[in-house]
Amino acid sequence: KESIKQLKEEKLISSQEFDMWFTNINYVRSSESTITVSVPSNFYKDQVIQRYLDILENKLFELSGRKLKLEFEIIQKTEIVIPEKEEKAQNRPSFSEKGQEISVKEVRRSHPQLREDYTFDNFIIGNNNEFAANAAKGIADNPGANYNPCLIYGGVGMGKTHLMQSIGNSIYQKMNGKKIVFISAETFVSEFVQAVQKGSQQAFKNKYRNNVDVLLIDDIHEFHSKESTQDELFHTFNALYDANKQMVFTIDRPPSELVNFANRLKSRFEMGLNVDLQPPNYETRLAILKNMNENSHSNIPEEVMELISKNITTNIRDLKAALTKLIAYAELVGKNITLEIAQNQLKQAFNAPIQANITIDRVQRIVSEYFNITPNDLKGKKRTKVITYPRQICMYIIREITDFSTTEIGLEFGGRDHTTVMHSCQRIEDRMKTDSTLEPLVMNLIRSVKEHGNN
Ligand code: ADP
Ligand code: MG
Repeated sequence: KESIKQLKEEKLISSQEFDMWFTNINYVRSSESTITVSVPSNFYKDQVIQRYLDILENKLFELSGRKLKLEFEIIQKTEIVIPEKEEKAQNRPSFSEKGQEISVKEVRRSHPQLREDYTFDNFIIGNNNEFAANAAKGIADNPGANYNPCLIYGGVGMGKTHLMQSIGNSIYQKMNGKKIVFISAETFVSEFVQAVQKGSQQAFKNKYRNNVDVLLIDDIHEFHSKESTQDELFHTFNALYDANKQMVFTIDRPPSELVNFANRLKSRFEMGLNVDLQPPNYETRLAILKNMNENSHSNIPEEVMELISKNITTNIRDLKAALTKLIAYAELVGKNITLEIAQNQLKQAFNAPIQANITIDRVQRIVSEYFNITPNDLKGKKRTKVITYPRQICMYIIREITDFSTTEIGLEFGGRDHTTVMHSCQRIEDRMKTDSTLEPLVMNLIRSVKEHGNN
């Protein structure tokens, strides 16, 4: 309460802004580490976060001496509080009068390039990943100090991206002002290629060499055979290294096994800390599912999660996809999930044959069937939403489950450019963050693609 009032008194926020954004915020509850307030809409919440979270965060910290997390609840009111005249508004506390002490923890902001749920809190530790997770936490506490660079390696779906983003999120939350850049190797390549084409290499250099405290590059095996980008990365590496800036890379194999890679770059990768992520054991798989069940406020029975943990051993992505499917199913049909339903629904996932050769053609067929359009629609030029949306989903799926490059995919979609493919995939990824129905839909499509075997 106090902090909000002070903001206005200290003219950090103008009266008009104050009236506009703070009179409809109400205090709901607080715990040791969190304050929950209500706001009238998602839009409102986003606006407040974008505009004022930094100031609020500082103010709360200043007043309480602690870092508190600010959480928002959407409460739709039929009656909207209309701001009164300025003098009156000034005397009216914006939080409710309950008189509870507001305790302040970490105010949650989100970094534009990082997924909010990829945090250490959500990263379950088992003996398969303990070393890597501890190293990552060490880096987050002291970026640039000891483990530089850090290389996280492991197979598909083992948690590389999650762990790397946890480092970024943790630093972002705890160390104000540190500039964190997360980028996939693929995007790095295409940005660099574009910079060369446009003659804007200097801006590119500036962006990655001079303007970064923590550089996170995902899936660096994608740099293979990209000679000039490797050169650029080599120089970026040296500049950041000399300036004691933290670098973290993920990769799908130990650097010694990289092919078509400049030796000088390989040796740079190897000179820091290399940690690996192994497949989780049964207990860890179960713990991951329980955590997910809790986070999504669903109540899948424990015995069902045990069943999944026993049967899905390949990787964590598949493990989570199985639970996602059941959660979606429970919501759709309004039924509680029993062992029997789970067995039935996950039959295919449980007996997943070794991945057959999946062709672009097959994915196009299945996606177009599902959306009731034709494969030619997917490849064609039409840009109506009925077509573009399935087209984007289709590209995304191919990207997820096959090894085709974006260039190859583009060719199979009527000769589209690889950047179009990348943007489409990005679109879908972004959309998944706001549309919770999209991920189950995509998962189901992927399952059908896999179920279709070799035909
Ligand atoms: P990779 O980058 O290695 O392919 P991801 O980081 O994308 O794998 O992880 C795949 C999925 O598994 C993500 O949903 C991620 O949140 C989840 N995951 C991976 N490791 C863990 C873990 N230790 N605890 C909880 N979830 C995990
Ligand atoms: Mg990844």
